[in-house]
Amino acid sequence: MAKLSDPVTLLKGVGQARARQLANLNIFTLEDLICHFPRGYEDRTRLVNIEKLEPDAPACFRAMVMNTPRTAHVRKGLDVTKVTVADTTGRLNLTFFNSQYAAQQLQYGSEYIFYGAVSGDFIGYNMTNPTFEPVDAPAVNTRRVMPIYPLTAGLSNGVLLRLVQQALAICDAPAEILPEEVRREYDILPAQQAYTAIHQPKSMEEAEQAKKRLIFEEFFVFSAGLSLMRQNRREKKAEVFENLDLQPFYQELPFSLTGAQRRAVEEILKDFQKGAPMNRLVQGDVGSGKTMVAAAAACCAARNGRQVALMAPTEILAEQHFASLSKLFAPLQISVGLLTGSMSVKEKKLVRQQLEEGTLQVVVGTHALLTDATRFQNLGLVIADEQHRFGVAQRSRLSGKGEDPHLLVMSATPIPRTLALLMYGDLDVSILDELPPGRETVDTFLVNESYRPRINAFIRKQVSQGNQCFVVCPAVEENQELGVKAAAAWAETLQQTVFPDLRITLLHGQMKGSEKEAAMAAFARGEADVMVATTVIEVGVDVPNATLMVIEDADRFGLSQLHQLRGRVGRGKAKSYCILTSHNRNPETLERLKALCKTTDGFRIAEEDLKLRGPGDFFGSRQSGLPAFRVADLSCDLKTLKDAQGASARWIDTAGTSDTPEARALRQRIGQLFQRWEGTMN
Ligand code: ADP
Ligand code: MG
Repeated sequence: MAKLSDPVTLLKGVGQARARQLANLNIFTLEDLICHFPRGYEDRTRLVNIEKLEPDAPACFRAMVMNTPRTAHVRKGLDVTKVTVADTTGRLNLTFFNSQYAAQQLQYGSEYIFYGAVSGDFIGYNMTNPTFEPVDAPAVNTRRVMPIYPLTAGLSNGVLLRLVQQALAICDAPAEILPEEVRREYDILPAQQAYTAIHQPKSMEEAEQAKKRLIFEEFFVFSAGLSLMRQNRREKKAEVFENLDLQPFYQELPFSLTGAQRRAVEEILKDFQKGAPMNRLVQGDVGSGKTMVAAAAACCAARNGRQVALMAPTEILAEQHFASLSKLFAPLQISVGLLTGSMSVKEKKLVRQQLEEGTLQVVVGTHALLTDATRFQNLGLVIADEQHRFGVAQRSRLSGKGEDPHLLVMSATPIPRTLALLMYGDLDVSILDELPPGRETVDTFLVNESYRPRINAFIRKQVSQGNQCFVVCPAVEENQELGVKAAAAWAETLQQTVFPDLRITLLHGQMKGSEKEAAMAAFARGEADVMVATTVIEVGVDVPNATLMVIEDADRFGLSQLHQLRGRVGRGKAKSYCILTSHNRNPETLERLKALCKTTDGFRIAEEDLKLRGPGDFFGSRQSGLPAFRVADLSCDLKTLKDAQGASARWIDTAGTSDTPEARALRQRIGQLFQRWEGTMN
């Protein structure tokens, strides 16, 4: 028996070249191969008569070859082989292109099982390039459910299939990690059976069952891992803060906190008194005032003689936070510094020196804070803004710079409660579900192309009133097929033909980080009237002067994403608007977009998104800060997900330290998952 950790080169037919192809798919070991799951299946189990074959419905049929195949050399590189087959219900002409195999294998008078779909017209049906095998041969390509794998150049589905089968034959699939009670309770296949069935299911139902098991397994491992992390942290110690009086801070604020902000601050102060490090997520819609909650926490830590690090995902956000915190903290005699990658070496050195000596109390920065060169005298609180840009790994790296400092993460991406628990299982959550008073909602409209002149007139009107506009497009490059407006091309069109007199600027994800920041900063300073952008503007930057956002082909975005984008306007005093354009005529799609026009509650929108599109959207993007899950298609039902989480929570309570083979295998898997995760976050 081979081991899961053995290299794929152990397999017959895998030499240097094959190994390189497999490496393209991140397959190095037998385990990688066995965990390379099909992205779908072709049901080739249906066996019908020739007369029952229908166009576009591939099926298997048993037929006899009625003549000797004739091959015609049409031109260089094109040979066409024709043959007629028949069963008791009818005859069918088959055509093969460049298939020596068909020309040689198909024997006059012999019977074969074919798999394919007919195409044709009133003259009669025909079939092109069907798969076939002799009736007495083992069912390899017909009469079975065929897994379809993600592939790479030079590696065909058939080859991959055979390699996976070979691997499964010479080594055991990954060990069982689910206790038997759990499997029984949730009607889950045992591991060996599931890993085999996912690659060679006897039926589509069995494939579904195997997939369910593997999704369950992944979420189970992930949730269990988060629970363990949480448990470990609970056992750590943190000094209790003595001074919890925030009155001086409140006196500096030009407004009073909302009820939700107050609750969140209370929860944080309670955490500070527990004697264990805080691990809290503050989740609130754009504009709900998360920065003030963070500031209150920072103020408290500083007044207790601890240093604070606030990490932002972009330089410009870091600068904005630095500016507002400096102003707020100056009268309180709390020093604030900035540390970003684009500062000069000398500037950075100075800030780092102050941090190390302990003369600087609060530092705001980007990833520059994570480097080894940054050391603190007495780091007591780490705050990460816009959490979805940071993974657990980065969070823990920053925390590692102090002795178990308190941790506060802030996220503007409303995650449905059901998922929040799963995604942030290692964190306590405070929710800001209330906007500061007097905030006007962003009026949102859904229009079609016939409104184009009015949209343009509206843009012009906003600009003439001294305001700025965003125009968001789904992709950078033109994609004719989808009719998607590419940002760059659209910016060009607007500038050339519609608004030659306005200042139009462009922002997209293919620009370098520093270029993006520069473009955004210039726009924030009012140096352009209209910014045409892709979704890169989704995160963070405040442009209070922006009062209009036009989102082109809005149906191409998820609801939560649209909501997030919309949050970029309406941050100043002026009334703001969001216009969604769409060519889409699908009533469901339009209904979905209309829902967005009616509600401004990010959590409700997220719940709606989850219902409509499944959890894939929330887990799919690398930005979610989650590990890459192996079961490619996470559009699973929520129930599996919730079940897995519930089961793992109970498992941690009752059997977290038990010594059964399942428990040991699970602990090992958790270790692997988090290791891989750390890898993908860097
Ligand atoms: P976000 O949650 O999106 O990070 P911010 O913290 O940037 O929101 O706050 C958005 C705006 O609301 C800021 O200009 C901030 O000064 C203001 N703000 C925050 N809290 C309040 C409040 N309680 N009352 C009035 N304005 C507030
Ligand atoms: Mg913010």
